[in-house]
Amino acid sequence: MRLILLGPPGCGKGTQAKMLCRDARAEHVGTGDLLRDAIRRETSAGIEARREVDAGHLVPDEVVNLLIGERFGRGDRPSRFVMDGYPRTLPQAHAFDSILSGVGMALDGVVMMQVRDELIVNRVSGRWSCPKLGCKATYHIDSNPPARPGFCTDCGTGLVQRADDAPATVGERLVIYHRDTEPLVPHYEKAGILIRVDGEGDIGVVGLAIRQALATRGLL
Ligand SMILES: [Zn+2]
Repeated sequence: MRLILLGPPGCGKGTQAKMLCRDARAEHVGTGDLLRDAIRRETSAGIEARREVDAGHLVPDEVVNLLIGERFGRGDRPSRFVMDGYPRTLPQAHAFDSILSGVGMALDGVVMMQVRDELIVNRVSGRWSCPKLGCKATYHIDSNPPARPGFCTDCGTGLVQRADDAPATVGERLVIYHRDTEPLVPHYEKAGILIRVDGEGDIGVVGLAIRQALATRGLL
């Protein structure tokens, strides 16, 4: 099983990727973990990434590609994997295609979790969490509200919202997603490996839909 999981920010693809990897004994490949690992090992991608991060910059495409290239160039490269958060642009998708073909691998499928923008905004901007160390309970105003509005049910601390989850920020992230990541859909559709899945249900329902779609294609 060699997969990419695609979907808008806040669609829950990280959670789905983890569950899928656990069930299918595949490696969950996320750029955040790879980045931390490369920085610790001081690989050439790690050193370059470190320089960008220290300068307060986002890690550029080329460095992210280098990071992925290092991971798949190693002898212990994953033979079964689910990519989460990479590739997120068309140049990255092209780079990943050549990284894989360079080691004689091919993707089996690209799962596209489809969730409408309105739903993402509602889901993400309704998230609140408890800032108290050792509690960190999370809530959602619609699906999992605290007993007393604005306060943690477990410890009574006032709830806070992550800056990333503010409605304006979510809107910006969606704009970037439509502009930069959606062009991957026709790319993988042309390759005949795009698998569309309804991503609007709860975690369990969506997880089941993904498994069924993969099983239908003999990938699970
Ligand atoms: Zn709390």
